[in-house]
Amino acid sequence: MFQTSVLASGSKGNSILIRSTDTAIILDAGISLKRIWSALEALQVPRHSIKAVVVSHEHSDHTRSVGALVRSLRIPLIISADTYSYCAHRLGKVQEYLRYFESGADFLVGDILVSPFRSSHDAVDSCNFCFEHDDRKLGVALDLGYFSKLTTFKLSAVNTLILESNHDITMLMEGPYDWNLKKRVKSEHGHLSNDQAVGLLSQIMHSGMENLILAHLSETNNHPDLAFEVMNSYLQSIRSGIRLLVASQHEHTGLVDV
Ligand SMILES: [Zn+2]
Ligand SMILES: [Zn+2]
Repeated sequence: MFQTSVLASGSKGNSILIRSTDTAIILDAGISLKRIWSALEALQVPRHSIKAVVVSHEHSDHTRSVGALVRSLRIPLIISADTYSYCAHRLGKVQEYLRYFESGADFLVGDILVSPFRSSHDAVDSCNFCFEHDDRKLGVALDLGYFSKLTTFKLSAVNTLILESNHDITMLMEGPYDWNLKKRVKSEHGHLSNDQAVGLLSQIMHSGMENLILAHLSETNNHPDLAFEVMNSYLQSIRSGIRLLVASQHEHTGLVDV
């Protein structure tokens, strides 16, 4: 068994569950602890199966309840040293649970292999990830302003992909954000648009890819139906039978078999 659920995703908070039969990992905890517990309960995933919390970068929509979560379960907090130094003040007392990772260096949590790799984002050491178990591979690419050769190389053989589809470029440019924020979101250190998500996917598409979950949608500059439609028309144009889902800010997805 190798499954994932996006517990929540969007500009207001992100958290992802990855689990095998023996091990479960929480990637980022940017929503309240209460919401994490209720999502796990609804998915019938026991709290004690969570063996580690992994953090992608320091932004509060990824770290809000990281400290509370590791203290509550008394489990390792796996984070890069630079990221920790930028958000330590927000995490509270976690020193006894700290374990550092470096981007580019794979590590194991139980029987799940975790591969962090650098993403282009306005954070000190922002990472995307692959998770592998039993010859199946899950990719998570959120919070990236553009995709590099490293991104497409790392994601090239994933069976399931959780991919940022943050904004519609017209909605962003004509929307209420001030100019500096618009510039930041669409910059190389911001977030992927719906069209950029299609661009990334088109470079890594292969017959072994089975599930695609669009995530980190902006509530101001995107709409779930629009993100779905843009990606779906690309998938139909290449006659792909891939299963397409859109993660929500307010509800967890079901458990998806990687
Ligand atoms: Zn971010
Ligand atoms: Zn984010």
